[in-house]
Amino acid sequence: MPMESNKLDELHRLLKRQIRNALDEHDLTQIEGGVAKLVELVSDAYDQTDMDRALLERSLELTSSELTTRNRELQTRLEEQEAMKAELEESYSLLNASLNATHDGLLVLDLDNHVRLYNRVFLRLFRLDESSHQVKSIEDIQALFKDRLKNFDVFAEALASVQTHPEQRVEFELAFNSNQFVEVYVEPQMLTDTVVGRVWTFRDITELRLKEEEAKHRAHHDLLTGLPNRRLLDIRLAKVLDASQETNSQTAVLFFDLDGFKDVNDYLGHAIGDALLKEVSRRLESQLPSNTLLARHGGDEFVAVMGCQKGRESIEAFAQRALKAFSRPFNLADDELYMSCSIGIAISPEHGVDADKLISNADIAMYRAKELGKNTFQYFANASDSHSMHRLKLRSQITVALEEEQFELFFQPKVSLRDGRILGAEALIRWCSSDGNFRSPVEFIPIAEENGQIIPISQWLIRKCCQHIVDWQPVLPENFVLAMNISAKHFRRGVLQEDIKQALTDTNAEPSKLELEVTETSVMDNIDLAVSTLEELSAIGIRTAIDDFGTGHSSLNYLRRLPIEILKIDKSFIDDILNSDEDKTLVGGIITMVHALGVEVVAEGVESRQIADVLKAMGCDLVQGYHYCPPVSEQEFIALLQAQTHYEV
Ligand code: C2E
Ligand code: MG
Ligand code: MG
Repeated sequence: MPMESNKLDELHRLLKRQIRNALDEHDLTQIEGGVAKLVELVSDAYDQTDMDRALLERSLELTSSELTTRNRELQTRLEEQEAMKAELEESYSLLNASLNATHDGLLVLDLDNHVRLYNRVFLRLFRLDESSHQVKSIEDIQALFKDRLKNFDVFAEALASVQTHPEQRVEFELAFNSNQFVEVYVEPQMLTDTVVGRVWTFRDITELRLKEEEAKHRAHHDLLTGLPNRRLLDIRLAKVLDASQETNSQTAVLFFDLDGFKDVNDYLGHAIGDALLKEVSRRLESQLPSNTLLARHGGDEFVAVMGCQKGRESIEAFAQRALKAFSRPFNLADDELYMSCSIGIAISPEHGVDADKLISNADIAMYRAKELGKNTFQYFANASDSHSMHRLKLRSQITVALEEEQFELFFQPKVSLRDGRILGAEALIRWCSSDGNFRSPVEFIPIAEENGQIIPISQWLIRKCCQHIVDWQPVLPENFVLAMNISAKHFRRGVLQEDIKQALTDTNAEPSKLELEVTETSVMDNIDLAVSTLEELSAIGIRTAIDDFGTGHSSLNYLRRLPIEILKIDKSFIDDILNSDEDKTLVGGIITMVHALGVEVVAEGVESRQIADVLKAMGCDLVQGYHYCPPVSEQEFIALLQAQTHYEV
């Protein structure tokens, strides 16, 4: 490094002066001394300069490493900040995206109720314009809701509650005039342990509410007619009854049931049946007095609930109008259909104070209207109708029995009086209902006949018997015949043949092994139909027996017209043949005449050996009764057949 110039100048000046002095004095030694001194000085100066330079170099070296370190530190910090910035940006975009991606409207307010944040859904939900910044504080929101809400009070109340308890979570629902429903949650915004603001979440639940409304409507209305259904009827009637109890007034329940609706469904199909029900509901509605509720109770049953302020006359006037509304034919599928209805009326509190009781008593009264020839109305009458009550219960139990297959068949042998062999059996239905009670067919068959339930019962019975004939084949004695009791209802319906033929085809049973027991009355009611039906069945080999002979018309004359093979003399005649000569003569006469027609005779309910002896003497062919065997289960009956039982005759 060059020596500093001022030092050199100084040395130069010093040297020049010494040399000049030495020259002036001509002192060589002095010159030499001076030069040596000068050299020394110069060399010192050089040394010093070297040192300085070394120092300077060192210090420069130091500064640059420090700078590098600092620089590196700065660089790191910068990178850190940039990373943080990127992270912040990402968080912000995440927050922003999340805020706007949610389907809920969000609004964040500080504790002074100033708006800090909201998302796009919030704006959209309340149709606010983003650019116009309408929402700055809770007051703006209040103003916004004031005219739009149906339940502003709920909002105001929630707001007050949030103000007083900022730490609490509040939840409420807003109903807008536009039929928009919004669920609102208000939650505290916490910073460590302190509430610093509140987050409001708005969820549009309009669709949900509409669906709920629809479901509620469906749950309470009949889809076909649009009328309130049984459930809603129960609710409304209960309310009406509560109110009428308070005011000490009466309420009438009218129970409508179409006469013969089942036939419409069976013969014309469900589509016509449905159309008829719709039209019926329209006609009934058109006759409804004001403030009267009309509901579809189920099937072809409708119920009306009306106040009795104007007395029974107004109720009867309505019932009459309703009956009259049926007098015009119903135009359905190019056909004119005539339909009537029967009406039962029960009035609270006289005929019951709760909804169930009133409806069921009106139903019972309706049955009496049917019994009285239909197309009329009847009031519930306590004493005479209590019996109907029992029938009504039984009716619903039969439905369950059919569904749950609670029915069973027992078999009672028919014994030949010639040799004591089992020549046949009668299938008798047995029912142990779900409450564990055994119910006699004498009790439930007439009810099943009354309401049409006998048809499915009968169909079940026919199928079962056909199957038994097939299953028992290996143990069946020659000429064995299984008899089934066929209800007058099924008989009259005209489809008995189809049901039997179908069962025969399905099971492959031999028709000649089956016998129908039909009562005199069912045949006599429509003798032409009876003749044609039985002839058709006879043609395929099915035999017919007249059951309970003597209890109905007891006309031997018509028997000639019928293709029958057997006549069963009713137990009531058999019982007395030992004591009553009259009955004995009668039974003897019947046997002779019937034989003359080529028909065999069975005596029912033979309970003793003496009776059997008398019958045998009179030429009776077969006997059936407890003296031989009561009706037994299938297993027991098969055992009898397997043992080739011969009774003593
Ligand atoms: P039914 O056809 O005249 O049947 C004879 C009834 O007399 C049976 O009563 C039988 O158990 C009863 N019996 C038989 N032998 C004697 C006896 O020696 N003494 C007494 N006291 N009774 C005897 P069950 O089974 O109670 O049936 C009663 C009625 O119910 C039957 O009279 C029939 O009209 C009807 N029924 C039974 N099963 C069916 C069925 O599957 N379908 C239909 N439609 N009606 C049925
Ligand atoms: Mg019978
Ligand atoms: Mg009988």
